[in-house]
Amino acid sequence: MFARHYRRHLSAYAHGELSPGEATRVAAHLDACAACRTEFEETKLGIRLAETLPSVAAPDHIWDGIEAALVRETTGERKRASRLQTFFPSRRRTLGAAFATVLLALLAGGAWLYVRAQRPWWEVARVEGAPRVASGLIDDRGRLRVGEWLETDAASRAEISVANIGQVEVEPNTRVRLVETRLTEHRLELERGTLHARIWAPPRLFFVNTPSAVAADLGCAYTLEVDDAGRGLLHVTSGYVALETEARSAIVPAGAACMTQPGAGPGTPFFEDAPAAFVESLARLDFENDHASLDAVLAGARGKDTLTLWHLLARVGREDRARVYERLAAFAPPPEGVTRDGIVGLDHAMLDAWKTGLEVNWLGESTPAARRVWRGLWR
Ligand SMILES: [Zn+2]
Repeated sequence: MFARHYRRHLSAYAHGELSPGEATRVAAHLDACAACRTEFEETKLGIRLAETLPSVAAPDHIWDGIEAALVRETTGERKRASRLQTFFPSRRRTLGAAFATVLLALLAGGAWLYVRAQRPWWEVARVEGAPRVASGLIDDRGRLRVGEWLETDAASRAEISVANIGQVEVEPNTRVRLVETRLTEHRLELERGTLHARIWAPPRLFFVNTPSAVAADLGCAYTLEVDDAGRGLLHVTSGYVALETEARSAIVPAGAACMTQPGAGPGTPFFEDAPAAFVESLARLDFENDHASLDAVLAGARGKDTLTLWHLLARVGREDRARVYERLAAFAPPPEGVTRDGIVGLDHAMLDAWKTGLEVNWLGESTPAARRVWRGLWR
């Protein structure tokens, strides 16, 4: 069925070691090939298991030492190889030395990538003003270690390199902490302020904790703000983000936003071009339990607001669910096999089937890769 499979590349893909072009090809293949998908799940499981092995944190100077030694080894071997060539210019020896050099360079390269992926810190760059890490000023560049806080005042900005999978710009008046960096999970905590994230990893590798929900990257770019009361606002500019607590989850595509509040968790996602009155009614419904606001939400919903209506199904009471159903069905009749009783009873298979029919409208300007991620979310 396929000219080639990508089994040998799956480990490198999971580790984020492929070039963007290769990663895109593997991602497209995984979307279409069940055999490779199964193998990829096993690969990720293996990585997770390996990570649960006991480990001790190595001091920074050891990492520096390993990198320096690798560079010395590689360049030293190259010199020896050229000396051999000078003294013994026979074809066989030259080839042998060249082969040894290439092999060593490959080994060194692999080890270097592994070391890089496993580093217990992220690089931080000063963009403006005087950002602080662990309460100390940084020079133009610094390191953010696991457990440390990065803080910007009103006149400071910084940029964080997220392992080898993305970048985070930190706006003024922001406090952010590196919680975890492992091959299968990179996690920040945003206590207050604003950050912009651009992530080019497979979905669900990068997370940001906020006081009331976790933002899980699904391959995307987004802005996340947290105010002094711990309330959050997520804007997605490309791809998708899931905003979640254990009890609730909101899937937010490009062009949409979602609020979150302590005690309530994520609200219902909405497209940002929705009229202000619609968004305000939704916020009252989500966070003030203002039952009457549902009327305004239902009346104000546009065709593309099926994103909001579909999420509302699982968030309102049974009586109201029937009304949401009617409004949603008026925009987009449910597919065959999806019944009113099933939706009102929160039948998960039926909710999924309906969503599959709706999502084409939510994905308007998003990329094929984003569509793939979206489809994979609910499997
Ligand atoms: Zn395959």
